[in-house]
Amino acid sequence: MSKPSGNQKRTAIIYFGETRQDYLRLVEEKGHRELLAYIQPLLTAQLLEDQHHDGCSDQSHYTVHSQRNRQLQGLLGSKETIAICRVRCQTCGAVFTVLPSFILRYRRQDADCVGKILEMNLGMGLTLRETASIYSWMGTGRSWQPSWVWSLVQWLGNLLPVYLLLMRMGLKPPEHLLSDEKFAVLNGKKVYLFLASEQELIWYGKWMGSSDEDCFTETIEAFCVGMDEAGRASGHIADEDEYVPISVTTDGWIASQNAWESRVPDITLMECKFHGHKRVFSSLDDYEKAHPELSYQQLSQVKAHLNSILAAPSLAAFSQRIRRNIARYHDQPILLKRLNILKEKRFRFNNHLKFEDAPTYSAPLDRSIRFLDEKLHSFGQFRAEHAIDPMLNAWAIVNNLRSFLLGAKKAGQSLAQFFGAIVNDIPWMEVLNLCTVGLLHDLLPSSS
Ligand SMILES: [Zn+2]
Repeated sequence: MSKPSGNQKRTAIIYFGETRQDYLRLVEEKGHRELLAYIQPLLTAQLLEDQHHDGCSDQSHYTVHSQRNRQLQGLLGSKETIAICRVRCQTCGAVFTVLPSFILRYRRQDADCVGKILEMNLGMGLTLRETASIYSWMGTGRSWQPSWVWSLVQWLGNLLPVYLLLMRMGLKPPEHLLSDEKFAVLNGKKVYLFLASEQELIWYGKWMGSSDEDCFTETIEAFCVGMDEAGRASGHIADEDEYVPISVTTDGWIASQNAWESRVPDITLMECKFHGHKRVFSSLDDYEKAHPELSYQQLSQVKAHLNSILAAPSLAAFSQRIRRNIARYHDQPILLKRLNILKEKRFRFNNHLKFEDAPTYSAPLDRSIRFLDEKLHSFGQFRAEHAIDPMLNAWAIVNNLRSFLLGAKKAGQSLAQFFGAIVNDIPWMEVLNLCTVGLLHDLLPSSS
């Protein structure tokens, strides 16, 4: 049986150095001796045997087959002409295109330009129209439509799933997850966006038609299967193993908790204390309305009693405070109802004490989600189902990979770096480009 051998399969992406000059110097040199010496080990590391012709016995020797010119547009100025090499395997004769990492397959703009456009649109909250306008101001003769930016977002979202990207950047599958869901609008109807993250670092996003247990189960299943495959492919999970997160913190939605438990039976469920506080607050509010006769001091006392529960330093203290309050308020149905819920959920609110690095609050995810909210707002509503997941994936990629601005606490770093990815100061769009063909670590020359 013949194997697929499209251009996609026969393209290698190589990092040549910090500047474009590092690439041009090698590619423009006569005889290409230095070029071949540089790229051969990197080609061997990234080109798989099945990308060669059947029966190829040695994938470590290449010659330059041909060279052609390609037009490339940067963010500023006019187009440049860049030479691109094709190399041939000396054993089987298969021919591969060698792209420097600042050139993306099938895109006329260079990585810097594409990265900045995507950052403007997905990371800074600009609309499609605003992004397109700014691009057109950067050079003469550019007339872009907002729909062009939209297709760029879709292109990014379809390149590779964010969880695979993170693993190819060297990050381990997270042990402690946050999971949350968000509203969005599809053709006038409410839909839900499911998100799984490691604090602010987004690992997964998928839309759901409803927020019932079946939808959650299906979505969590898809997440875990994706994590299994990506984990095995990138060497983080052994072939016979599965991805098994230790804990998940949710906002308390029962359908989501049940679904997690059914897919990952041993998982420790935790509830976000922030959401717990909000519900206590809402019960206190109801209580206050039902008892206009209470003095300010009496009400303050009730509030202090109830608020002390979620602030308890241990499960024992938590349970004791509930018992005391149930005795105290046994004849107050509004408070009793809340106290019984807290009692029922006492483990979920205190499980974080068992793990050093499990989150008590889902607030970090909320922060990332705020950007998503702005994004959804500026995109307006979705019109096609198939566009939602790529948009979420594209947003997650930009959220994780773009650098924080100067002056921020994590200035100059991206979230992915903060969580341990080593990117050697390579711009994020080039990192992403390299990760489309393999593990980042294998694709960088050993000296750098
Ligand atoms: Zn070969």
